[in-house]
Amino acid sequence: MKMTNILNQFLLMDPTRIFKLFTSAFNSLTDLIYIMEVRDEKISYLYANQSGLSVLSKDQTLIGKTFDEVFSTERAAFFKQHYLKAAHSKRIVTFEDEVVLPKGNKMISETVLTPIFDNEDIYIIAVVRDVTNRSKQISELQYSKSRLEENEQRLSSLVDYNEDAIFTFDLEGYFLEVNNAAEQITGYSNGELVGMNFSEIMSKKELETVNSRFQQTIEGDMARYETKIYQKDGHEVYLSVKNIPIIVDGTIKGVYGIAKEITSEKKALEEFHLVKSRFESFVRDSKDSIHIIDNEGKVQFINEAFTEIFGFTREEVIGRDFPTVPDWLKSETNNLYDEVLNGKTIQGIDVKRQQKSGELLDISLTLSPLYDEFGHVIGISGIGRDITEKKKSERELIGLKELLELVWNNTTDVIFMIDHYGAIVQANPTFEEMFDWKVEEIKQMSPPPINLEIQTKQLEGFLTRLREGEKFVNFETQRKRKDGTIIDVLATYRKIDKGNILAMATYKDVTDSRQIMNKLKESEERYRNLVEASPEALVVHSEGGITYINQAGLDLLKAKSPSQVIGNPVMDFVHPSDRKQVVQRIQQAINQGKKGETLEERFLTLDGDMIYAETASVPIQDHGKTSVLVMFRDITTKRRAEKAMRESEERFRIIAEHTLDMIRVLNPNGKVIYCSPSVENILGYPIRSLIGKSFFDLIHPDDVDDTKRNFENIFKTKEFYQIDFRSIHLDGHSIWLNSDFVPVISPEGEIEKIIVISGDITEKKRKEEKLAKMAFYDHLTGLPNRRLFLDRLQQAMYTTDRTGKLTALMVLDCDKFKAINDTFGHDIGDEVIKEFSRRIKLSLRKTDTLSRVGGDEFTIVLPELKNENEVVDVSKRILKVVREPMDIKGHSLSITTSIGVSLYPSQGNNTESLFKQADEALYKVKDGGGNTFSF
Ligand code: GH3
Ligand code: MG
Repeated sequence: MKMTNILNQFLLMDPTRIFKLFTSAFNSLTDLIYIMEVRDEKISYLYANQSGLSVLSKDQTLIGKTFDEVFSTERAAFFKQHYLKAAHSKRIVTFEDEVVLPKGNKMISETVLTPIFDNEDIYIIAVVRDVTNRSKQISELQYSKSRLEENEQRLSSLVDYNEDAIFTFDLEGYFLEVNNAAEQITGYSNGELVGMNFSEIMSKKELETVNSRFQQTIEGDMARYETKIYQKDGHEVYLSVKNIPIIVDGTIKGVYGIAKEITSEKKALEEFHLVKSRFESFVRDSKDSIHIIDNEGKVQFINEAFTEIFGFTREEVIGRDFPTVPDWLKSETNNLYDEVLNGKTIQGIDVKRQQKSGELLDISLTLSPLYDEFGHVIGISGIGRDITEKKKSERELIGLKELLELVWNNTTDVIFMIDHYGAIVQANPTFEEMFDWKVEEIKQMSPPPINLEIQTKQLEGFLTRLREGEKFVNFETQRKRKDGTIIDVLATYRKIDKGNILAMATYKDVTDSRQIMNKLKESEERYRNLVEASPEALVVHSEGGITYINQAGLDLLKAKSPSQVIGNPVMDFVHPSDRKQVVQRIQQAINQGKKGETLEERFLTLDGDMIYAETASVPIQDHGKTSVLVMFRDITTKRRAEKAMRESEERFRIIAEHTLDMIRVLNPNGKVIYCSPSVENILGYPIRSLIGKSFFDLIHPDDVDDTKRNFENIFKTKEFYQIDFRSIHLDGHSIWLNSDFVPVISPEGEIEKIIVISGDITEKKRKEEKLAKMAFYDHLTGLPNRRLFLDRLQQAMYTTDRTGKLTALMVLDCDKFKAINDTFGHDIGDEVIKEFSRRIKLSLRKTDTLSRVGGDEFTIVLPELKNENEVVDVSKRILKVVREPMDIKGHSLSITTSIGVSLYPSQGNNTESLFKQADEALYKVKDGGGNTFSF
């Protein structure tokens, strides 16, 4: 409902009635009520109730007045500001104010301004309420709040900086809050701890107790206990813990844990307990007597050993004077006690004390002062050791020592001590006798001069072995006397290791017996070396098993060490095919009791290879058993060579028997020892007629010298060579042979035999001769050709020059030869030429040369003619023989020739001019119809 409506209703009422109603109502209120009229920014009182008036000490004259007229300027402005704010904002405005009441009291007021608008008019109803009490409460509250905050901060800094670890747990034992010390003690950070359960850092053993204490706290009781936790890194920490319930509004919300680290205390305590228990056990279990007396000499404590040693029980001595000091030692003992009571410790002095039975004991006594916590001596502890037996044995020892000295001085053995450097420290008189050295002379010498050169080098090693506890008992060695002579000793060294003495040594002189032994040993060794070094493989076996094998034997069987062979059955190494024979051989040797015959047997090496060996067995008696010594000679190589030889011989034979070449084997004298069958084929002689004969018998006489020379040369060069020579066939004709002479050389480098391999080259030779002829001879007639002829002519001219005798050159040409070819054919023509030349040749001297220079043309040189007539004679004779009818292949025919002659030196001084002259002469004859000669 709008204010205007309310007012309208009021206005409908009788205004006086309304006013009365308001005033009586408002006047009954303790709140101050003012109605203000706001017009043109001027605010004036329109109404004030009784309380409002009295507060301002005003009466009804207040009405119509402004704030400026009622209050100081400052307060008026303060009110105006709030009232205008309400008027302008058209909202309720509330403010607080302190009012000084007429009686001087102050009142805190709260003013609520409610603006009312009626057309153009603005009214503000102000209700002022005394809030003095409320405000006081609030300020008190604020004060206590800040106190509380302060407290909380104090508390939290108390918690944070507390040296004790402080934890807040919830009811289930989870960390809610922790302080710095808690982080340090646990090793976990705040963030890590919060949310963890305390059980996670507890020792398992402790957990049950701690849980029950925690439970106890939750039920309202504080708990205090010690426990152990594990730090983050696993370290144990002892804690003294107080658990306090957190009670809020009478309910237990959680638990505070306040913990102090007591690790070091705990450890110290443990240590103390340990020391205490050690000490107790020492005192209890000690074999030495232990007693404590106070500073007045009264016994406070004795241990069990005391009772055992002296026979007094605890009951008999506690609180009484110390009982074991004999009367006659009392004053001396009291002096001793005084010294100890003055703080001195007396260590291990030998004293006499008596048992309960009265018997005296030798006691080694140690006395120490006992102190209280202020450092005052309050008593003496005594530790006594019964040394009665020791003393006794010491006395006995003295007797023993004398005995030892006797031995030391009189034994025939050398006895001496060496130090850690091997130097001799002490030695008995026998030492000096044996070595001729005075101990004083060689005392500090390391190595001692009794060692041989070689031994000094080994000294360091020997000492080390001694030091390591090795015993050297009765070993034979040599030592050197002062004069340099060597003696054999049986030496024993034993480690002593007392003070500077490392070891004691004893020597026995065994030089004499040693020499005999040495000889025996030497011969044995020599024998052994012989056997070992023997190139002959030696094996000894006994009862089928090998008991000895030498190096050569190992080599033979391809064994690397005797262990691979010794102990193995003999038969393992025998070739299966020969096992029977070997068994027989062994049995025979044993039966005969002497060396058996040498046999050849096959054996197997460790590699499984077969070897041939010649073996001989000798039975030997060895420790009452019959062993067999077997000597082997490896003949594998020989056998192999023989086999190879046989094989190669076989191969040779096969080749030799089947080859077309002749193969002959000669001894160094040239005697034939073998002929292959082809020899008979080629030379015609039966093989057996040749064996044993000289190889040179069948050689052509012209070639023998050359062949022999070459043959002899092979003994120098020892090298294969090849030559051609002729042999004479059984028929008498010669055969050209191309022969390889191959020397067979013995291992000694001597020629054992010579193998001659010959091939028949007769045919080849013939061809060669023919070829050679073709160069100088006419192939149809076999007559020298022009080249050879010119040579002969020249020769003849030289002879003429030398002798003055004439040389004649004749040039011949058959007459009308074409006609023969044409009539009878070329072949007949050839035959005619051959016959022609043959006839001419026969009419000439041996020294004359006929040559065919081409076609039907021939030349003749007649050397060494006395005169021209000789030429004429020859010419006539030629003409005559040529003319005679020829019978050629059934044809009878005739031929004539024309001859031109020139003479040297009369008709020319060189071959050219001689030919020219002769040719001219020939033309003349031809021109004349032929069949004659002309110069
Ligand atoms: P002329 O009396 O002038 O010598 O007359 P000719 O027929 O003998 O003629 P010429 O000497 O000039 O020629 C030689 C002839 O001989 C030519 C050729 O037909 C023949 N002739 C040459 N060489 C051979 C040969 O080797 N065999 C044969 N059957 N005939 C040959
Ligand atoms: Mg002619």
